[in-house]
Amino acid sequence: MKKQLGFLVDTEKCIGCFTCAMACKNVYHQQKGIVWRQVHPMGESIYPHRERAWLSLACNHCENPVCLEQCPVKAYTKREDGIVVHDQDACIGCGNCVRSCPYGAPRMNPVEKRAEKCSMCWQRIDAGLDPACVHSCPVGALSIADISTARLDGWVQYPAGYPESRRLNPSTRFKAPRQPREVRRNDA
Ligand code: SF4
Ligand code: SF4
Repeated sequence: MKKQLGFLVDTEKCIGCFTCAMACKNVYHQQKGIVWRQVHPMGESIYPHRERAWLSLACNHCENPVCLEQCPVKAYTKREDGIVVHDQDACIGCGNCVRSCPYGAPRMNPVEKRAEKCSMCWQRIDAGLDPACVHSCPVGALSIADISTARLDGWVQYPAGYPESRRLNPSTRFKAPRQPREVRRNDA
């Protein structure tokens, strides 16, 4: 596998504060109702505890991106480091990528009438910085890694409830949430 940057989402650490999604929204001035990164509570059928666990999700920068395949004007490119970049200036708003991505990553901007999505803050990466979401997380639940070389024991590609697509081969990896700890008083 060639170099492939991917997000690592540690649901053991995530506290569901939405700071990552808000950092992304602020940096890219996303329209009302549009989010490129979303924080989803895991359903009780998957995580059956009173405490909640969360999945922070954005574009997966897939190895074989269907968004890129389906775009008629080549508004998508895949870089050497695996990041899938969307160029909004080239986009004609046909909606093919929005309809074809099984992860709901590209969104249609209702004002611009063009698609948009997470491009992993590639300008920040080229400047040696972390993406805004990674930088903002107060508990270090997000990071990026070259998944073609990183040691990812204990990380999974498809956590429970997450759509599987072997053809796209999404690059995000997840650490499953731990069971909540019970704390008891010794003198109770
Ligand atoms: S998650 Fe969707 S938008 Fe992102 S690279 Fe994969 S197919 Fe494209
Ligand atoms: S900022 Fe970190 S802790 Fe907060 S929701 Fe996002 S990933 Fe979870």
